[in-house]
Amino acid sequence: MIIDAHCHIWDKSIISGGFKKLIDDGAKQMGLSDPSTLYDGSIERLIREMEEAGIDKTVLLALDGHIAFTANLTYKDYNDYVANIVNEYPDKFIGFAGIDPRRGKEAIQELKRCIEELGLKGLKLWPLTGFYPDDLNFYSFYKRVQELEIPVLMHTGSGPPGTYIKYCQPIYVDKVAIDFPDMKIIMAHMGDPFTNQAISIASKNFNVYLDISAWEPVLKRVPAAFIQTLFQAKSACGIDKILFGSDWPLFVSFLSLKDWVKGIRKLKIPPPLKLMGLTDFTEEDKDKILGINAAKVLGL
Ligand SMILES: [Zn+2]
Repeated sequence: MIIDAHCHIWDKSIISGGFKKLIDDGAKQMGLSDPSTLYDGSIERLIREMEEAGIDKTVLLALDGHIAFTANLTYKDYNDYVANIVNEYPDKFIGFAGIDPRRGKEAIQELKRCIEELGLKGLKLWPLTGFYPDDLNFYSFYKRVQELEIPVLMHTGSGPPGTYIKYCQPIYVDKVAIDFPDMKIIMAHMGDPFTNQAISIASKNFNVYLDISAWEPVLKRVPAAFIQTLFQAKSACGIDKILFGSDWPLFVSFLSLKDWVKGIRKLKIPPPLKLMGLTDFTEEDKDKILGINAAKVLGL
């Protein structure tokens, strides 16, 4: 089974105001002349591209960026939006709530609503909007997350212009992971460019995982750099810690979902890296990255 553990979904009502600016600036940052391919995050397009890629299930992430950015929909609307899609296609999608823990008591109420009423199965945190994940003020929120036994996907690493990189260093996940040992945490993007931090934190904490979303441009442009980082993650953390993800639709102009899956399937250590001691990923390794590991984290 192939599972994409990191995917977005949106339409014009979501891509408005500050969210639209994020996408436009992100497109500029990536050197895309036309940002409009990024606006189409529709379910119809996603299902089509998942089928082309042979992806069986996808995690859809609601985003609460509303404290930092304006939008036509509220963060609660976004959670409803994701839940409605999951309800329509329960075999294909798993929904994660987007809740900013700075909302205090309201965050805890919304978490309860999302998990118990809407049927969402995890939580997405977006520290790039301006908070450190290990802020002690969030501990009562994390306590509820841990009690609900849901995984948390945290953005780590760089982001689009207008977002704060300092809060997204993987080092700020470490204390949370230690203080909430039963809360599974997926560090998005392997913390790129702070991969050494991310890998060391995932290797030290049994409850911390890494997703490879947003690495499509690296595989496309400098495959050896991607392979070397992935190998480093495998060596330090074990293959079971690495989850496939795409960050769809943000990187499709570099690699389609189909080519991203194919890229993992065909991973091969280039001869110069073999000379450095890297050994090939086995078929079992690839199966684990592409779905087995995510199935375990998601409790499927
Ligand atoms: Zn993302």
